[in-house]
Amino acid sequence: MWTSLNSEDNMIYEMFKVALQLEEPWKLMHVEFDDKEEAWHLFIDFERGSTFACPACGAESKAYDAEVKKWRHLDFWNWKTYMHARVPRTNCRTCKKVTQVPVKWSRPLSHFTLHFEAWAMRLMAEMPVNAAARELREHDTRMWRIFHHYIEKAMDELDWTRVKQIAIDETSSRRGHRYITLFVDVQAKTVLFATEGKGMDTLGRFKEQLSAKGASAEQIQDVCCDMSPAFIRGIQEYFPQAEITFDKFHVMKLVNEAVDDVRIQEQKHAPELKHTKYIWLKNESNLKREQKETLARLKDSHLQTGRAYRLKLAMQEF
Ligand SMILES: [Zn+2]
Repeated sequence: MWTSLNSEDNMIYEMFKVALQLEEPWKLMHVEFDDKEEAWHLFIDFERGSTFACPACGAESKAYDAEVKKWRHLDFWNWKTYMHARVPRTNCRTCKKVTQVPVKWSRPLSHFTLHFEAWAMRLMAEMPVNAAARELREHDTRMWRIFHHYIEKAMDELDWTRVKQIAIDETSSRRGHRYITLFVDVQAKTVLFATEGKGMDTLGRFKEQLSAKGASAEQIQDVCCDMSPAFIRGIQEYFPQAEITFDKFHVMKLVNEAVDDVRIQEQKHAPELKHTKYIWLKNESNLKREQKETLARLKDSHLQTGRAYRLKLAMQEF
């Protein structure tokens, strides 16, 4: 049931008025609440005869007509809160155009106030979008719309013209069924671009994106990536002037695999190597005491595995 609170001296009305901080010519007219849906409805309107600035040229004119709109605002006392207002259009004499007047509390076409969207974005930064949608009691497609709007806006505002060093990495989603390649500006530590796949064509798409952003492939001096042949070919094809650096993590992974291969081969005739796999792969400081003792005994022996291990340590130093 909707209950109306419309007397000016009502305390709840006064509280909402303070909370909304509306500016002229907007005014909170009355408040209603729906105890079944647990929602507040705040009705705002402008004074008759008010003038509004034309969004294009700034000339003031009276409302030509108005459209009733509704926005979800921040919750009050845990109830959903909606703002309702007639949003005017002006018929500007200078521009000869009918335009909707922007309102301070929301961006055009959004069904939420800016405060609500800021709250939603904070939640979505901390948790998956569907979890945030549950928390906010909204459908997740509406949350995705907010998310895309602000992410695209932030991406549009990124300046790519000074990017020199990039890092590329692939990641998989949905249990490895879908690959995504990420391009990161190393100096700014910002993700610039994400695209599906993990092949050399991802570099071609990144190159296209660079020119779309007013930058060029030639300005890329260094590319850091894992040792994937597809990335290497892509860099040679699309960024031939760039130096390729392999990141340490991926190099050490390959070195560890090589050490393990040597051990597997050698333990066939060197039984003392049985059950020593992790002794050679982990950092020494992470080993248990008896593992450390085994390592000390074996690493400087005649074993090929010991030699491979010493090369690995040298590589780590490097
Ligand atoms: Zn105008």
